Amino acid sequence: MKNLITSRLTAFLCTAVMVLGLTACGAKITGLSLPAGAVLEKGETLQMDLQYNTEPQTDADALAEAAEKLELIWTSDDETVAAVDENGLVTAVGAGETTIRVTARGGELSGSCLVTVVVTARDLVVPDTLELVTNGQNSANLNAAATPEDATGVTFTYTSSDESIATVDETGLVTAVANGEADITVTLTQAFPIATGETATAESARQPVTLTATTHVTVTTAVERIELDKTEGVLTVGSTHKIKAAVLPDTATDQTLTWTSSDERVATVDASGEVTAKKAGSAVITASCGDVSAQYNLTVQNIKCSYCGKTGHISSNCPTKAADEAAAAAAAQAAAEQAAQQQAATSGDSSTPSNDPPVGSSGFDDQYGSWFVTESHDWTQDPSNGDNPVIVK
Ligand SMILES: [Zn+2]
Repeated sequence: MKNLITSRLTAFLCTAVMVLGLTACGAKITGLSLPAGAVLEKGETLQMDLQYNTEPQTDADALAEAAEKLELIWTSDDETVAAVDENGLVTAVGAGETTIRVTARGGELSGSCLVTVVVTARDLVVPDTLELVTNGQNSANLNAAATPEDATGVTFTYTSSDESIATVDETGLVTAVANGEADITVTLTQAFPIATGETATAESARQPVTLTATTHVTVTTAVERIELDKTEGVLTVGSTHKIKAAVLPDTATDQTLTWTSSDERVATVDASGEVTAKKAGSAVITASCGDVSAQYNLTVQNIKCSYCGKTGHISSNCPTKAADEAAAAAAAQAAAEQAAQQQAATSGDSSTPSNDPPVGSSGFDDQYGSWFVTESHDWTQDPSNGDNPVIVK
């Protein structure tokens, strides 16, 4: 406490001495003056231009002498925005506003300057691409940002190249409308404040900044489900069935179906959904499109013969049927031959072709140079016997 009183007393004495001194020199500083305002870029420095208000008829030398004796105290209301050193050199620290003050004679004299610190945008950052679906995640914000992040006074505007594909609102929210592609153009505009006491046309006024960037938006429709005409069926070995499948909604961008069989020994399936039954058993046929799938539960049965009732073959391949048919054919053949022989024996029918003379016929034998009559004829019963020579070979 004693030290505080002592220092206050010292300050009072000094001030008293200074006032006397200035008065003695005939030059009295009656006020301090700083520019009303200044706009600084973050990181920039500015030497404050301090002006002294004096009594009339103060010459330059006297003023300089008086000013030298004046103890100035420089302060900033917010040192996170701008700092000032003991010589009035201001350094811009961060975006914002602060008042730089200079005082003397314990506050009797003072001046101030409103300092605005700005940060100029160097770049505009938006996503290169944005993917949306009409069903599900159908909107997203571009989150356009300036760099550096603390750029001051920036505004963004948005336009879509095709609003039938995607729209964008004033906050940068993009909403899918229909399948397709569109570009969203973002424009960053940065305006700077005018220093207090200056005009927009002042040389020191900062020019607005404009930056643009584009995001390419792709809108698709996701597959919701696959619809099969049937979800189960029974096939016999060797037969085929084509499963009809539809990817829904019909606007789904990906309509590609992939078919798989849970057991290819039982049944296979081709790219068109055609199932071929291979072996008795069960298999699950799956149709897939992306992450979505549908299943067809297949049962494969052995084929059953309608002729013999056994499995494993159909009647056209039935061994029993074949054997029965062969036996029947042989019996029919034998009966036919027997009938033909009986007919020939009674009618002398020579319809059966042969290298030998027909049974019961007669002719001229080249080998023997004589006429013959075949042996089987029963000449004893033939009343024409006496008219024909009998040749025995
Ligand atoms: Zn059979």
